[in-house]
Amino acid sequence: MPMKPKTGSELFAIARGVELCRGQNICFYCGAECGQTFPAADYVKKTCTIRQYVVAPGSDYVCAGCAESKQEKTTIPVYDEVNPREKTKIRLFSWVITEDKAIAATKAHAAWLQSVCIDPPEPPYAIALSESGQRHVVYWTSINRRRDVVTLNLELDKITYKVDELRKAVQITEMLIAASGKTRLQDAPSTALAMQIYNYWGELSLHEQWMQMFGKPLSRLAVFLSRKKEVCKNEYKGVEASK
Ligand SMILES: [Zn+2]
Repeated sequence: MPMKPKTGSELFAIARGVELCRGQNICFYCGAECGQTFPAADYVKKTCTIRQYVVAPGSDYVCAGCAESKQEKTTIPVYDEVNPREKTKIRLFSWVITEDKAIAATKAHAAWLQSVCIDPPEPPYAIALSESGQRHVVYWTSINRRRDVVTLNLELDKITYKVDELRKAVQITEMLIAASGKTRLQDAPSTALAMQIYNYWGELSLHEQWMQMFGKPLSRLAVFLSRKKEVCKNEYKGVEASK
């Protein structure tokens, strides 16, 4: 009987075929039970700036999954690519993790990540999303045991949502992106955005909806998962397109 994963990092280890190395200690990052195979001194920088987010900042050890997630020269299967990428860093990617595989995705795979976040795989699974490629995202992630409510992390933000809510939010953000592009939605709603919405849609109700949504974690997630402007324009044709 294989061991049951208790943290997202442990699921990541299992998916990557790494032995869990459980023991009497708890992992500095994710809090999983671990032995002394991976000393924190080798995996945590002295200048670590995210101590307030880790589970056990006093621990001297990390678990096998968190150690694996810090690999800098490893083989990574990327969604839709025939050959895995070699000698690359775990942290450069977003991850969709199930018991038998961990698949990496880049910003070019927003459509796939969107479909996974709205229609997740069979549990147990975990989803860790990287926006910057600078931060390690795997050790913050949670194991999900149901498919209608999902907890994932977008960088350091832990977000729990109902899939129906996310589906609706993404539809709105993609309709907005068709009018304005993605970057504009990262800033607070503005007159410039309102004008772009009016020019594209011939009315402003979407702008009013966005004023209610902006700043909420689910909205940030919806923008992250939205497809490119050209794709959104094709999918959601405004009055501009019908002129
Ligand atoms: Zn860990």
